[in-house]
Amino acid sequence: MPVYKAPVEDVLFLMNDVFHIERFANLPGFADASPDVVQAIVGEAAKFCEQVLAPLNRVGDRQGCRRGDDGSVTTPDGFREAYRRYVEGGWIGISVPQEFGGLGLPVAITQAVNEFLASANMAFAMYPGLTHGAIAALLVHGTAEQKALYVPKMVSGEWTGTMNLTEPQCGTDLGLIRTKAVRQADGSYRIAGTKIFISAGEHDLAANIVHLVLARIEGAPEGTRGLSLFVVPKIVPNPDGSLGARNAVSCGSIEEKMGIHGNATCVMNYDGATGWLVAPENHGLHAMFVMMNEARLGVGVHGLALSEVAYQNAAQYARDRLQGRALTGTAFKDKPADPIIVHPDVRRALMTIRAFNEAARALVLWTSIKSDVAHRSESDKDRQAADDHMGLLTPVIKGVLTDLGFANAVTAQQVFGGHGYIRELGMEQFVRDARIPMIYEGANGIQALDLVGRKLGKDGGRAVTAFFNEVQGYVKEHAGDAAVKPLVEPLAKALGRLHEATMWFMQNALAKPDNAGAGATDYMHLFGLVALGYMWCLIAAAAHGKRAADPSGRMKAKLVTARFFMERMLPETAAHLARIQSGAGSVMELPAEMF
Ligand SMILES: Cc1cc2nc3c(=O)[nH]c(=O)nc-3n(C[C@H](O)[C@H](O)[C@H](O)COP(=O)(O)OP(=O)(O)OC[C@H]3O[C@@H](n4cnc5c(N)ncnc54)[C@H](O)[C@@H]3O)c2cc1C
Repeated sequence: MPVYKAPVEDVLFLMNDVFHIERFANLPGFADASPDVVQAIVGEAAKFCEQVLAPLNRVGDRQGCRRGDDGSVTTPDGFREAYRRYVEGGWIGISVPQEFGGLGLPVAITQAVNEFLASANMAFAMYPGLTHGAIAALLVHGTAEQKALYVPKMVSGEWTGTMNLTEPQCGTDLGLIRTKAVRQADGSYRIAGTKIFISAGEHDLAANIVHLVLARIEGAPEGTRGLSLFVVPKIVPNPDGSLGARNAVSCGSIEEKMGIHGNATCVMNYDGATGWLVAPENHGLHAMFVMMNEARLGVGVHGLALSEVAYQNAAQYARDRLQGRALTGTAFKDKPADPIIVHPDVRRALMTIRAFNEAARALVLWTSIKSDVAHRSESDKDRQAADDHMGLLTPVIKGVLTDLGFANAVTAQQVFGGHGYIRELGMEQFVRDARIPMIYEGANGIQALDLVGRKLGKDGGRAVTAFFNEVQGYVKEHAGDAAVKPLVEPLAKALGRLHEATMWFMQNALAKPDNAGAGATDYMHLFGLVALGYMWCLIAAAAHGKRAADPSGRMKAKLVTARFFMERMLPETAAHLARIQSGAGSVMELPAEMF
């Protein structure tokens, strides 16, 4: 069975020594997040994920979800009991405001726990993951009654949530949505249409499912300007929260798919179901974006999570598997062959994944702290700056962490040779599961376009300018600092390339938008590498300070890994820049019929 040990120490190191979350004690909820409390929460989450969820990962993969003739869906053996324990643990509400039944603690803690959950069992993690997004959307856009009726039940885990956008003819282009809403005399709406690919659309884990549905009110404008958001419960609750009548929404079928078999991906039929408007008419997409942004960060975390668990298994295998001898001569004379960890190419693979994981975790926690500042700070200026950061970094985290998460799962599988390809050791499941985060919540090509087409120019480039200023400021301040100088120099070069690419778009993409489209994915990855490089500088500075007092060697390992990243991964930025600057010419030249 695959191994998994949650990276608790790394999370605590990042929170306490790299980001010093105690600096934010003036924000609501942060004063309660003392190092002891954080340690207790992530420690308990680690145990739950390692002992309860991880052993169910393969069960879920093999059994999948089953739909009964009555439209009910049964989750794999063990999922119900695990969900009961998950709910008992109160994990959903870690960062939800206390007035809605949560603990109000920093989002960084929730994201750390989310990583553990998805490493242990991504299919399971998606059930509460979607609930998180639905809670966020209701808290921002729901009426007071909707918040009071739905949110506490979702925080307690009694009810779960879903997001319903996709239809057969409508994926990326939400303007094509056909699901209809007709206003009723009592102020509710009748919802009719078919949604496909709805994660956790039906299941047996919770008593009720709260669907957030994008639909078009009769007579509304065409395109995305005519979309409204509705809350459509599977069972209509009475005003006191008890369960009332069954609503006219049902699961028509569940998809057979490549991975995440333990999560039910449903066709949902809305046959005149009763729904209630969330946010004003025709402002549905804006409201759904709260859920989508939350979900995009969550999906980015899933990329990291699968990269981490794949790495842990590959590292263990490389220490055990005996093949060949070290190039420098026999390393283990008492053994018939050396373990493959002696081979530079195997180490290259492991170091590549490790150098991504540790910096990606930092990037997620850094951005999570910004999310708290954006929502909790009393200073307008700080809130705006943090919100800018979130807007800019969300497509980068979603796109880069999931692209590289999948690539790393494949690289880890490669360390197993043929034993990674067969089912027995579980590596091929990680590869299959890691594939979907690149696609849903907006395929990664769309994340890249969002970054280049919307986020760069937004508010006169305020967000990207702030990012450049922060990294440039760090580079200047630390150029002579012996502890990080060898890292700062390559970071400065990579930042220069990012700057050059940004200028190139400004000069070459306005008149020729295909230049932006053809370079967008490279730009997103160039941006991601710079952000990860910056994280490595922050990590290395903290590790340097703690190295002398660290007998475990973990801090020294951080410094070596930081160097690896700068020497072996950051130079990719040059290739990204060259591709961007080549423009759309060869990409667009062939006529469609030649493909
Ligand atoms: C397992 C699974 C779970 C899912 N869960 C949910 C869920 O819970 N709720 C929900 O609503 N949906 C869900 N989805 C749907 C998912 O979000 C969509 O599949 C995804 O957004 C892409 O839409 P599509 O599949 O129709 O692809 P299309 O929109 O047809 O896109 C196909 C390709 O074309 C590219 N493309 C499209 N338009 C452009 C453009 N303008 N510029 C450049 N490239 C473009 C895309 O990047 C993509 O690579 C799920 C899907 C799967 C497979």
